[in-house]
Amino acid sequence: MKSNKNLILVIFILALFTPQLILGYQNNSQKQKSVEKMPEATLTENSIPEPRQPEKELVKIPVTPGKTVSIPILMYHEIGEGPDCMWVTEKDFYNQMKYLHDNGYQTISLSQAVELLTGHYDTSKKVVLSFDDGYLTFYSYAWPILKEFDQQATIFIISKLVGTPDYLTWEQIRFLASNGIEVGGHTRTHPLLPTLSAAQSDAEITGGKQDIEAQLGKKINTFCYPTGKYNAQIVKQVKDAGYVAAVTMEQRKSFSTDNLLLMPRLGVYKDDPLDRFTAVTK
Ligand SMILES: [Zn+2]
Repeated sequence: MKSNKNLILVIFILALFTPQLILGYQNNSQKQKSVEKMPEATLTENSIPEPRQPEKELVKIPVTPGKTVSIPILMYHEIGEGPDCMWVTEKDFYNQMKYLHDNGYQTISLSQAVELLTGHYDTSKKVVLSFDDGYLTFYSYAWPILKEFDQQATIFIISKLVGTPDYLTWEQIRFLASNGIEVGGHTRTHPLLPTLSAAQSDAEITGGKQDIEAQLGKKINTFCYPTGKYNAQIVKQVKDAGYVAAVTMEQRKSFSTDNLLLMPRLGVYKDDPLDRFTAVTK
């Protein structure tokens, strides 16, 4: 009888404390979940971006004096499922980044490419990834894949479209800039620059640069002509605005002999087979 009483007492004590133990565990797991959610919370408006990651070292190996060096600057627009040729699927983009990673390529920013081309340094196995227009799909789909394969990119922002549907917000752009993504200008409203008056095109080019610099708190150096359209006056305005380099949509690799304000690129489009991608990166 006595041992039965003891057993009942033990069960009673256990019954008394077990719910607290379970509740305590649940509380802890809830705390854990809320901690895991913190990175998302840092992306709300007016919050402080995460600290800058150390930039990857740019290896500069001099080549024979006078030798022309070249680099492929790839042009992307949207990543994900979309209606036209400007959309590269997440799967294709993943395979392209995996190819670069597995085959020893290093992606660099457009500014770093300019450093290598103008300094006549070795550019073998170097590639620039550029993304036009500042679409939200860069943050949603391209950025996680770039991060997974430790790759770099340059994004060109249309300043007056920031924060509108389908486009990145300033908070996201600041976050990306703090994490190694180069931010360049792409005018204020993406007009066909040669159709504008000199005053209008200057407001688009210089104004767009000022908008971005005010939001980032630092100078930007690279520009992209909307739809690849320019004339001599536009190129001069881009230079006078303080841009160091600008890209077009002329389809070929960029060479050290090219004008830095008219750098050609190679488009990557929907359903491009991987062997076309591997060919253009060579
Ligand atoms: Zn564009």
